[in-house]
Amino acid sequence: MALAKRPHGPNILITGTPGTGKSTLAAELAQKTNLKYVNIGEIAKDGQLYEGWDEQYQCPILDEDRVIDELEEVMSAGGNIVDYHGCEFFPERWFDIVFVLRTDNTVLYERLENRGYTGKKLEDNIQCEIFQTILDEARDSYKVDIVHELPSNNPEDLEDNLEKISAWIQQYITSQGGLV
Ligand code: ADP
Repeated sequence: MALAKRPHGPNILITGTPGTGKSTLAAELAQKTNLKYVNIGEIAKDGQLYEGWDEQYQCPILDEDRVIDELEEVMSAGGNIVDYHGCEFFPERWFDIVFVLRTDNTVLYERLENRGYTGKKLEDNIQCEIFQTILDEARDSYKVDIVHELPSNNPEDLEDNLEKISAWIQQYITSQGGLV
């Protein structure tokens, strides 16, 4: 039998505007499927993979090259669920499928307010969702047939998304002849 392309299963990217529910979905999916949850924000924080400070948004600027170096080995093996609010700087070859979470503006506004976002930061994130910025970025960065939009407004959406992605993972693993 041919060697599996990814010995530990597929690599999945879950992206979308902040607040759309990426980390909630990614963490639950990892639990349900035994794939590894890779939270880019936390990895950057743990390794201090930053290259400066963004005055406008009052947050550190990610050192994208160092993030890629840090993850190269684990991504090559496969079996990862990556969560990040951007997608264009990752190597295209890393991902077998990309999910872009979408949330209605009123729902997102409330979630971001609850998170303590105000003023320009809040408005910019809402605009990002209105203009489907991340969806366009994903379609520009990966083959369009591996990019899927998923609604993420309520608990039923979360359950649906978990079901659909788990079924896809199972099918992928079977098609590769199982895990190594
Ligand atoms: P992100 O990782 O995209 O920034 P989070 O996963 O932190 O988003 O979710 C933002 C907030 O929305 C959290 O309070 C989370 O509990 C809630 N949330 C996430 N997904 C859903 C959903 N499908 N239905 C209702 N609330 C959700």
